[in-house]
Amino acid sequence: MTAKIINGTEIAKNIRHSLKEKISLLKTPPVLAVILAGSDPASEIYVKNKEKACHEVGITARTHKFSANVSEKELLDLLNDLNRAPDINGILVQLPLPAHINSEKILQAVSPAKDVDGFHPLNIGMLQQKSPDTFIPCTPKGIICLLHSLSLNLTGLNAIVIGRSQIVGLPVSNLLLQENCTVTVTHSKTKKLSALCRSADILIAALGKPEFITKEYIKPGAIIIDVGINRTPNGLKGDVNFKDALETAAYVTPVPGGVGPMTIAMLLENTYEAFLKQNRP
Ligand code: NDP
Repeated sequence: MTAKIINGTEIAKNIRHSLKEKISLLKTPPVLAVILAGSDPASEIYVKNKEKACHEVGITARTHKFSANVSEKELLDLLNDLNRAPDINGILVQLPLPAHINSEKILQAVSPAKDVDGFHPLNIGMLQQKSPDTFIPCTPKGIICLLHSLSLNLTGLNAIVIGRSQIVGLPVSNLLLQENCTVTVTHSKTKKLSALCRSADILIAALGKPEFITKEYIKPGAIIIDVGINRTPNGLKGDVNFKDALETAAYVTPVPGGVGPMTIAMLLENTYEAFLKQNRP
């Protein structure tokens, strides 16, 4: 079997195109405030990419850059200002923050109404309750979008999620449940992981270990979503051995060009949605 490649780049491009059209009809552009603290090279690249993507669809991105020794108070003061500013629709705090900063405290200080990353406890709770008022975290939202693009009936499928982070594993598990999948969440203490994974109709790999998922983890005909982004001496690698997935699965996302572009597209979508919610007549 040769798996079909799920082209996240193309799907994300279509979403951005449609957003650009909708945004061009607004009287004022949506505004996203981005907070970047420290000089982690990967974070700097992510923020640059987000700024560029915003610009392309007509969202104004305003980045607030701080050195690595920024104080918690400085960040909280800025968040306080951004939360109150009527012209700011979305706020994104680029993670990781410097080690001396309590990230949870900072994320909780973002107004839930502007929390376009969906990391505030209120939005996490509203996601559990399937509230339309929540912001769904961008990577999990993008993964569900990729699955929908296959036009398959997901009801009753066995979905295995590898990873239980707040950013990916837990929210995507929740969303898969909402799709009526039977969901198993696995992690570093899970026993017999490969046997479990071989029962998965949908396998979401979000563990952050380059090419960890090989043939013996993949059920023939499965849908494989590779979330991993691992910088290795041999270049950017996913969590899945792509060649093995191509030979065994029915569908697979590439790295790069799978989940990554969807994450950014969903950030743009959430910012647009924040604008609409804040400007409801
Ligand atoms: P975390 O490090 O927060 O979580 C990793 C999870 O994987 C943990 O739950 C951990 O288990 C589990 N895990 C680690 N090793 C194993 C193992 N050997 N077997 C089973 N489970 C294991 O990572 P994130 O969720 O933030 O990110 C995961 C990956 O996705 C990373 O490569 C990251 O770069 C990428 N990513 C990609 C995005 C995109 O846009 N494409 C966006 C966000 C992340 P335990 O809880 O027991 O420690």
